[in-house]
Amino acid sequence: MDGAVRENTQQKAIKGGASGYLTIDLAALVRNYDRLVSEIAPARAAAVVKADAYGLGADRVAARLYDHGCRHFFVAQFVEARRLRPQLARDAMIFVLNGLQPGNELACADDGIVPVINSLEQLRQWAGAAVNLNRRLPAALQFDTGMSRLGVPPQERPAIASMLRTCGMIDIQFVMSHLASADDVLSEQNGNQLAELRRIATEFPEYELCFANSGGIFLGEAYHGVLVRPGIALYGGAPTDGHPNPMEPVIKLDVAVVQTREVPTGARVGYGGSHVAAGPTRLATIAAGYADGLPRSLSDRGAVYCDGVRLPIVGRVSMDSITIDISALPEGRLQLGSLVEVLGPNQTLEDIARDAGTISYEILTGLGHRYERQYR
Ligand SMILES: *Cc1c(COP(=O)(O)O)cnc(C)c1O
Repeated sequence: MDGAVRENTQQKAIKGGASGYLTIDLAALVRNYDRLVSEIAPARAAAVVKADAYGLGADRVAARLYDHGCRHFFVAQFVEARRLRPQLARDAMIFVLNGLQPGNELACADDGIVPVINSLEQLRQWAGAAVNLNRRLPAALQFDTGMSRLGVPPQERPAIASMLRTCGMIDIQFVMSHLASADDVLSEQNGNQLAELRRIATEFPEYELCFANSGGIFLGEAYHGVLVRPGIALYGGAPTDGHPNPMEPVIKLDVAVVQTREVPTGARVGYGGSHVAAGPTRLATIAAGYADGLPRSLSDRGAVYCDGVRLPIVGRVSMDSITIDISALPEGRLQLGSLVEVLGPNQTLEDIARDAGTISYEILTGLGHRYERQYR
């Protein structure tokens, strides 16, 4: 970082006075969407915007992707669909992955919210609502192909097929299933699930298929169907483990220094005094902790960066702050209000997730609400 930029960043920090700045680059999000579309064409790409678009803001993300031509949006829960519905034009379809919960039928039908039907019981409920309203209702139909989490189990398939033949009130948009190990190109579970989906396709030949999440997109064309459902890759996360990440980073997180100090050999740092200074050490305390989504498992593990220099986390991560060792930086470089990089060019989501013993998804969805969010 050159002097002018540095000064600018510091001024911004002092001016804004926020404890941290979460920058969300919607242009990069759109480029990631295009990158995925080029991978799967002529299939289409939906956007998975559950959990507030993995923490980035479902309203902003979905509106931007709608403007860019996306028309299929997946959330996990009815309450999320309810919130998103007024933000999107009527021709945007919002699917609820967790399915149809008793009591939501009329609200779904009224709002144009499309349930993912995960069982015979749910199909009966939805068909019952259609009969009561005397109009056809849309649905997606999900089958379990080996994850044992959500979707119609194998033994219910015949009953589902015969009900769809006779009832005529449900307008199935596509048949879908979800991959359990798509981020691992070597997992034999991928091929097994694909084989099971193909059997299902022969039992339900009139419907098109929707199968791949982010990882599935990169497993090849066989996994694409007519519609793919990326989440993490849109937001810059790596779709495939152990491979270079083809996606562009979408977020950047800079956190403010709230105090600096020098401590002598033997000084204890943080709760429990778990860290003991091995020599005279310069420390900085930054204004984010586990309540801001930086997991406590980063205690005495991960790091943050300044000018490309790694600044190790020392001692335990607190609720609202973290202490870092800044001895590797020139004296005076970090001052009250200076920013350090938590996520950015020097540290990816995957880096911090690895240090925390978790996955990029959990880091993203945990990003706190005390940062000042700046959409670009
Ligand atoms: C969360 C989810 C996705 C998106 O998965 P990513 O790995 O983030 O791309 C797709 N489909 C279903 C059913 C999901 O639950």
